[in-house]
Amino acid sequence: MEAFEGVLDSGYFILGPEVEAFEREVASYLGTPHAIGVSSGTDALVVALMASGVGPGDEVICPAFTFFASAGSIARVGAVPVFIDSEEDRFNLDLEGADELITERTKAIMPVHLFGRGAAMGHVNDFAKKHSLVVIEDTAQSLGASISTQKCGTMGDFGIYSFFPSKNLGGFGDGGLVSCADDEKAELVRRLRNHGMFPKYYHSKVGGNFRIDALQAALLRKKLPKLDSYGLERAENATYYLHEFADLDPARVTLPLAGTAEEGVIWNQFTLKVHGERDRLKAYLLENQVGCEIYYPVPLHKQECFAHLPAVELPVAEKLACEVLSIPVYAELGEERRQRVVAVVKSFFKS
Ligand SMILES: *Cc1c(COP(=O)(O)O)cnc(C)c1O
Repeated sequence: MEAFEGVLDSGYFILGPEVEAFEREVASYLGTPHAIGVSSGTDALVVALMASGVGPGDEVICPAFTFFASAGSIARVGAVPVFIDSEEDRFNLDLEGADELITERTKAIMPVHLFGRGAAMGHVNDFAKKHSLVVIEDTAQSLGASISTQKCGTMGDFGIYSFFPSKNLGGFGDGGLVSCADDEKAELVRRLRNHGMFPKYYHSKVGGNFRIDALQAALLRKKLPKLDSYGLERAENATYYLHEFADLDPARVTLPLAGTAEEGVIWNQFTLKVHGERDRLKAYLLENQVGCEIYYPVPLHKQECFAHLPAVELPVAEKLACEVLSIPVYAELGEERRQRVVAVVKSFFKS
């Protein structure tokens, strides 16, 4: 309330000093030179694509097993998403055979750090270098995750983040951010987020209204210092589940991989793969008041809005869509509730 009152008193409701302070603090947390607050994670993707010069006729490689916004943003700038399959155990994009997807129109690649686990950025960057592609990391679900000592979202040309309430750093509404190491590209993103305007009322490029509100920034500034401790609580829940579920029949359910020391996993989701009886488990959990969700039931190459694109077969994405089920792992879950989750899941697999 104090932070909000500060904004109300200042009269700065959009961008302004609170947003600038938040941007400096996020940049320092990420260990990258530039952080630019925007209106949502989706708009962060759109503006990063615009700043990369991706437009009509261009192709962008992205996984099919992800939230819609990854590919939706590519389509919204007039480009074509070229879907790639995912790794069965890590849920992230699999570059095996990706050379065949390259055409003279391929402009960028969008690795997604899904469920709080970093994608294989070493491979992505080698691949991007080989084919001169821009790398836009969709880090909406993985702010704070890392690979070795580097934060996800800071290893490509742009990183994008979301402050949607259910993300690891959740706002009281929509919000997002673009990170970037290059001074000129960062300046371009700053201008594009405000109609491509520079100086005032002069427009050399067409941007949009991708601005973030000061009230969101004020809240997020209070939560950012706690992000890593929220992450530890999520990790504690995940470790507990992995331990408690270790004796479940692997023919019926596969647990997510525990993070290694190399991988700083932040457990945005704890995702089971249930073989053949996923929908039955989901119904059972809901009947027993255990929240759960399928992220995601339809891989993007099977979405109606992309039916005009050349048909592709992505067997892992298709299989995951039939098997995944995420159970509660949020920081505030607590001992009692997570014990109940375990008891209900175990009772399902006893029968
Ligand atoms: C949430 C999410 C987005 C979009 O973020 P919004 O802030 O909701 O617009 C993009 N990509 C992925 C992978 C997401 O999970």
